[in-house]
Amino acid sequence: MSSRTPIMAGNWKMNLNHLEAIAHVQKLAFALSDQDYDGVDVAVLPPFTDLRSVQTLVDGDKLKITYGAQDISAHDSGAYTGEVGGPMLAKLKCSYAVVGHSERRQYHHEDDALCNAKVKAAFKHGLTPILCVGEGLDVRKAGNHVAHTLAQLDGALADVPAADAETLVIAYEPVWAIGTGEVATPEDAQEVCHAIRGRLGELYDTELADKVRIQYGGSVKSGNVGAIMAQPDVDGALIGGASLDVDEFVKIVRFRD
Ligand code: PEP
Repeated sequence: MSSRTPIMAGNWKMNLNHLEAIAHVQKLAFALSDQDYDGVDVAVLPPFTDLRSVQTLVDGDKLKITYGAQDISAHDSGAYTGEVGGPMLAKLKCSYAVVGHSERRQYHHEDDALCNAKVKAAFKHGLTPILCVGEGLDVRKAGNHVAHTLAQLDGALADVPAADAETLVIAYEPVWAIGTGEVATPEDAQEVCHAIRGRLGELYDTELADKVRIQYGGSVKSGNVGAIMAQPDVDGALIGGASLDVDEFVKIVRFRD
């Protein structure tokens, strides 16, 4: 039985303005307040513009909900128009920063070297990176999904020291399953999450590999989360679309029911 605490993180993507975020988090906090979800870490990942509002709610209410950003600049500050740096996110008391989401890799051409710099930036400022890796449909069809995903992992973790890496969260997200309604089978998720843990053992050691939490992401819903979470190397989920529906997200958090 794994000693890793499951982590359910809602990636809102580019949805909910700061007022909607307040309503959403209040509803979520209320829904979770009379629910038993002890032993599960719950995080929301709103757009940058919502973080201050979410911080205020979480600070004030001592909610057990944590929050983080959907991206982080590789730079601390300076002439990088449009970017948001680690010191700013740390000041907002973010716990997490997503790095290398497939939508950033696809639409903003983020490569493994940039993900590596962002992982390091997150750690430098006390944030836990949620590092996203995963293959597209063509790679899956060619049977190269494990090798492709492990290469992304190698690139993103180059020169990341063990003391940092052991606190990492990794999200295995097959791109063909994100926002498509296509969900990988629990066995598909387990195959790659197991391979990721194996690679962490090679890059570092098995003790560290055992500590790292690996999420599955891709059309997770209340109806499929139980089977996915039953896999020994899956420690949580990164949830996009379904995280915008509070009732559905709460059911996912309570996957043990
Ligand atoms: C995501 O945004 O990381 C994601 C997995 O989205 P969805 O759950 O909508 O597939």
